[in-house]
This record gives sequence, C-alpha cells and structure tokens, in this order.
Amino acid sequence: MTGRIDNIVECDGALVLGGGIAGLFTALKLAPMPVTVLTGARAGAAGSSAWAQGGIAAAMAPDDDWRAHAADTIAAGAGLCDAAIVEMVARDAPDRIADLLDYGAPFDRKADGSIALGREAAHSKARIVHVKGDRDGAEISATLAARATATPSIRLLEGYHAVELAVADGRVTGLFARCGSGAGTRLVLFRARAVILATGGLGALYAVTTNPLEARGEGLGMAARAGAMIADPEFVQFHPTAIDIGRDPAPLATEALRGEGATLIDENGKRFMTAIHADAELAPRDIVARAIHRQITGGHKVFLDCRTAVGLTFAQHFPTVFASCQSAGVDPATQPIPVAPAAHYHMGGIASDARGRSSRDGLWVVGECAATGLHGANRLASNSLLEGLVFGARVAEDVRGLLAAGIDRPVPPAPLLAALQPPPRLLREAMSRHAGLERDASGLMQLLDVIARVEQAGNGEAALLNITATARLVAAAALARQESRGSHWRNDFPATEAQGQRTLLTLATAQAVTQHPTRRAAP
Ligand SMILES: Cc1cc2nc3c(=O)[nH]c(=O)nc-3n(C[C@H](O)[C@H](O)[C@H](O)COP(=O)(O)OP(=O)(O)OC[C@H]3O[C@@H](n4cnc5c(N)ncnc54)[C@H](O)[C@@H]3O)c2cc1C
Repeated sequence: MTGRIDNIVECDGALVLGGGIAGLFTALKLAPMPVTVLTGARAGAAGSSAWAQGGIAAAMAPDDDWRAHAADTIAAGAGLCDAAIVEMVARDAPDRIADLLDYGAPFDRKADGSIALGREAAHSKARIVHVKGDRDGAEISATLAARATATPSIRLLEGYHAVELAVADGRVTGLFARCGSGAGTRLVLFRARAVILATGGLGALYAVTTNPLEARGEGLGMAARAGAMIADPEFVQFHPTAIDIGRDPAPLATEALRGEGATLIDENGKRFMTAIHADAELAPRDIVARAIHRQITGGHKVFLDCRTAVGLTFAQHFPTVFASCQSAGVDPATQPIPVAPAAHYHMGGIASDARGRSSRDGLWVVGECAATGLHGANRLASNSLLEGLVFGARVAEDVRGLLAAGIDRPVPPAPLLAALQPPPRLLREAMSRHAGLERDASGLMQLLDVIARVEQAGNGEAALLNITATARLVAAAALARQESRGSHWRNDFPATEAQGQRTLLTLATAQAVTQHPTRRAAP
C-alpha cells in the first residue's frame, strides 16, 4: 500500500504515542486536558514497562537523601550525566512515587506499614520501591492502564503502528499510523498540536535482548528522520544476567538477586567478579556485563548462584524469574542459573530539555526514547521508570501551558508502507556482533555496510527506514566516539578521555560521520 491517506483524525489537545509507563503517566498527568494515546499493542501490557522486575529508585528512607541518589546516578554515568537534570529527577522522585500510590500502585510494605525498600547494584542505600517482589512493571502498568481507561479525557487507541511524523512549516503537527493488516491495512493521519513520543527503547535491534520485539527504536528513527537532534545513541546498556536458555527475547534474572547476595560463578563454581571490582557482583552494570561477556568469549559458562542468598524462598520472592527458570527445567533454589549479557536499555535517544521538549517544535519526548542527560554513559538500575514518571509530569505541565495557540497544519504527503516485518535478522546479528559490549572501527564500518544494504532492500518503506535510521545513529556515534566510557567499549580505543563530552547529532550528521569515519560527531 503506498501514498494514500485513508482517514484524517483531528485530536483535541495532545497526542501521545506509546502505552508504556511513560506514555500512560503523561496522559494521566495531562487530564483533564483531552489526550489521544496511540499504541501498537495493548496499553499497559506491551513494551518494556510491563516487564520491569527491579523497581523504581527514590530516596525515601529516613537515612537516605536525594543528594545521595543524585551522587550514585552521577557516579554510574561515567562523566556524562547532566548534573542539573540528575538533581531535578532525584528531588522529584518521592513525589512521583506518591502519585503512583494515589493512582493505586500496590507497592510492597513492611510489617509497620511503611514502603519496603530494596537495594540494587551501585545504589549506596536501599531505595528501590517494588511490587510483589519482581512484578513491579506488570502491576504498575496495569494500574496506570486501568486508571487511563477510566479517565474520560483519555482516548486509548490500540493497534495503531506509527510510521512517520507529519511535519508542516518546520513544526511536528501529527503522525501517520497504520492499522489492520494485509489488504485491510489503512493509513491514518492523526493531527494534534502537541505530539509526545513515548515509544521506548531499541533492544530488539539486537539479536540477544531482554526487550520485547516492539522495542525497535522506531520513535527515535521517526524523530531523526523529521530532523530532531539525537543525543548519546552509542550508549546501549547490556543487562549482565539475562537467563541463557535460548529464548528470544531472553528472560531476565533481576539485579535485585545480586542485591540479595547472589554470586556469579563459572562452570567450576569459581567466582570471578571479586578479582575485577571492589564491589564484585554489585559493580556497575557495564563492568559486570563485560566481565561475563569476556568469560563467555574465553570459552567459559557463567551462572548466577542464588542457592545460598535466596534459596528456598525464591519462588515466593522472585516469582517471574522462578517461572522463567522453571520453563527451562532449572530450579534456581537448588541449581545455578545459566546467564549471559543481553541488550537491555538505551541511554541515548531523542535529545530533550528539562521540560521534555525535543529540538523540533510541536514534539515532546518522554521515557526510554528520550535522552534527557539523566543516565550519562551508563544508567543506574531502576532510574529509567523513574525518568519516565518525572518527565511525564514535566511534559504534561509544559504542554498544558502551551496549547492555547492555534496552529495551521497543511496535510503532508503520505509515507510508503509495506507489510510489517520483524527487524531483519541480518541487522540484529550485525548489531550484536559490531555494536555490542565490545566495538572497533572495522566492525562498526561493516555494520554500517549492513545497514545500508538492509535499507536499500527496503525500497524506502517507512517503518524500515525508522529502524535503519536508529541503527545508523548508534553505529555512527559509536564510530565517532574514539574512547571507552560507560557502556561504550572500543577495543581500538580502550582509554577514557579526560574530558567527557555528550554526543549530539542529527541523522544528516550520522550520514556524514559514515562517509568520514575518523571525524567526531559535532558536540
Ligand atoms: C526485562 C526488563 C526489566 C526492566 N526492569 C526495570 C526496573 O526494574 N526498573 C527500571 O527503572 N527499569 C527497568 N527496565 C527498563 C524500563 O522497563 C524501561 O526503560 C521503561 O519501561 C520504558 O518505558 P517507556 O514507557 O518509555 O517504554 P515502553 O514501556 O517500552 O513502551 C513503549 C510503548 O510504545 C509503543 N510503540 C513503540 N513504537 C511504536 C510505534 N511505531 N507505533 C505505535 N506504538 C509504538 C509500544 O507498543 C509500547 O506501548 C527494564 C526493562 C526490561 C526489558
């Protein structure tokens, strides 16, 4: 199907793309302003949000303080965090948890009725709120989805796959989305004065990932193709302990297990993290993930040993992980869990300011698809759901203040569509091989060749162009960053430069970096 718009829908108020925690929370915060929430799959059930297992970080304990939370975030970020943004997020965190409590989120409590707080890697205090052990993502998503469904100002439209932003006179004025399949596919132009992308991450562009298959970086690609500035795309976090049972996506053994004292061992039962970092298994994610990756590429097998730390309470405290292990015949109470690193979280994204504004008028971004400067080169565990909440509230406040002005919106030409396909296997494998835990110039150049070939084969189809734009931005920024920092490791540039600089680039810059690989992306 090409070039025909079947329907034009005028949205009163704002249009949110994405039904994860970031999109739903933003919509709720916008109420009673009218909001249309579009999502490809079921709101609150699809996307990474529903899969989150660890929890949400907030300095709420009497012996904790937002300053300590901010300091831990900055330490994890390897020199690239925006200190003002980190401070803002750490300060706002307890208020956003209070909002979730108001919406009905059933956080775990202690016997005295206070909220139970867990500890995770690289947090100096216990500050992770959670639900039913490891079910926080599913429970909070379901709570927000139910609340959004019951809110009269929110119109939830599921089953729409967005493929392109509509741009008129330099302003984002809506988006094109397809619905239906085969001969019944229809292309709808949704027009709105404020478009808010909450489309999540890009893990599914990698062959081994913990992310659901809809996390394909499409929102990022759409924004980049519309000329928006992209920040830090080279920083992709790998979760150290995906459960290695050959499933796609790979189920996760939450970091909280290491917080409880679980250890990493090789096939001989030998711990290896104690020789690598003073915090051993609780070292920053990139260090743990790279150590496991090197064990595996060195011919070893790696296991997470929870037998002593969690033991027979496993099923009760970590029901999701327990079920995943059981599906592969592993009893984690009595057997070590086989693990391997997997693409998990994108620190980079569409560049945003403190109000969630992108560099394009009319376009706001929130959640994992945004790059706010909170995470720097490496995300601190449980800060991502928090970022979606804090920026959701801020985007809502900003959009509410701005929507008074009338805007002229001519109808742009329709994009080219083809039947929706999963990301090409060739691309996913090349991303894992060349833009994974270890990178070098020759591999990244090979990856750029693969991206060009995949793009060419797509004949200009819009959804594929979003995916290849995102992959190109990751590869080009990784090529341009000639140092190792945080989650980005270059075998040919292992040193860290004294002065850290964030990456800011457009798709056009990424294309130029591709043509002149020794040039750095413009700061
Ligand atoms: C297994 C796992 C465990 C995690 N555990 C934690 C944790 O404990 N704590 C924490 O802070 N973070 C955790 N994370 C990260 C966190 O879950 C995500 O960063 C966060 O949920 C992102 O929320 P979001 O709303 O931005 O995106 P998502 O929840 O991914 O939602 C994206 C939405 O956009 C929609 N969408 C995307 N593209 C399109 C399109 N083209 N058209 C229409 N709709 C589209 C999707 O259908 C979905 O509704 C975890 C991630 C995973 C994968």
